[in-house]
Amino acid sequence: MAKLTVSDLDLEGKKVLMRVDFNVPIKDGVIGDDNRIQAALPTIKFVLDHKGKAILFSHLGRIKKEEDKKGLSLRPVAERLSNLLNKPVTFVPVTEGQQLEDAINKLTDGSVLLVENTRYEDVVNGEYVKRESGNDPKLGEYWASLGDEYINDAFGTAHRQHASNVGIAEAMHKSGKPVAAGFLMEKEIQFLGEAVNNPQRPFVAILGGAKVSDKIGVIDNLLSKADKIIIGGGMTYTFYAAKGIKVGDSLVEKDKIDVAKSILEKGGNKIVLPSDNVVAKSFNNDAEHKVVEGDIDDGWMALDIGPKSIDEFEKVLKDAKTVVWNGPMGVFEMSNFAQGTLKVGEFLGSLTDATTIVGGGDSTAAVKQLGVADKLTHISTGGGASLQYLEGKTLPGIAAIDNK
Ligand code: AMP
Repeated sequence: MAKLTVSDLDLEGKKVLMRVDFNVPIKDGVIGDDNRIQAALPTIKFVLDHKGKAILFSHLGRIKKEEDKKGLSLRPVAERLSNLLNKPVTFVPVTEGQQLEDAINKLTDGSVLLVENTRYEDVVNGEYVKRESGNDPKLGEYWASLGDEYINDAFGTAHRQHASNVGIAEAMHKSGKPVAAGFLMEKEIQFLGEAVNNPQRPFVAILGGAKVSDKIGVIDNLLSKADKIIIGGGMTYTFYAAKGIKVGDSLVEKDKIDVAKSILEKGGNKIVLPSDNVVAKSFNNDAEHKVVEGDIDDGWMALDIGPKSIDEFEKVLKDAKTVVWNGPMGVFEMSNFAQGTLKVGEFLGSLTDATTIVGGGDSTAAVKQLGVADKLTHISTGGGASLQYLEGKTLPGIAAIDNK
């Protein structure tokens, strides 16, 4: 169902509450990667250009005790945002009360304010009360009372039920105020939603990463939707064990072998496993290593897919019209075992006739490292959220946005 979006709203002169994802790495007050701030700019600029008063909320890190607050202020983000927008950003160092209300009342049309880290509300008077991350309805109601409209542009937290994304939206509904998606959220829903519910075929999913247990839900949901599911990374070897292929010292989740068996039975030839692997003597970049096909002997562990598998995967991918990729094909952090992941990323970048969607930290890092990120259709900004979307789950943050 289509969701209400920021472009459907009448923004002029309105107090526009916006949930953005400014959860960026900050060390000693210095921001590392500001991608997430950049990603929120289109929606913020749109609101400002249409003379709305933007009141921004975001979480940053996790706060479990009073001392955690010190290093987790959003103040440095306000400065960076101000540079990026080339206009002043009012930073309010609190999350509720007179100081915040006065600052909001002083806003002029087309100006912007950033509220302190919403997770400051998780610790009140030294106690870990989780007002924000436990979705205290009073907090959502209070924040909702501060504005006329609410926009959620934080896809990365859409799988969580917090006061700043769900509580506030519900309170807005109750008072008859609109709840809309920002452009970033709209894009995520559009691409992930299309891929899962209405893909151009052939639709191929590539799933990697360490554990089968993290991806069972995704595989289960995609079994009935995808034409092929390519499996790589550490979880491959639980599938090997299920097929009776020797795994040596490779990563295996013994308690998931039966699940892997039933996935293989259900999936039949939809499931594509690597036929060769790069195996090493130990979990170390400098360890002795070689390529083997099929069985892996004791004393060796598979840390990457092999060249033949890469060729086979490319054959499956070359005619695909929709590709979703989540999770590395091997121990990508170690250069000797990064080839599988890099080759898959490179190949996706060369597919000009397909919708290509990448999610998850390692796969995203791979396509960025390769410089092919801008050749892909969509890079999801939410790891956990995009996995849950692929599992076919309803994400509370998205469910709380008004339908058109
Ligand atoms: P995930 O967080 O589930 O996406 O898994 C990512 C992690 O899986 C990365 O840290 C990889 O190093 C790890 N990984 C990928 N392939 C293997 C493998 N064959 N053996 C052990 N770990 C792996």
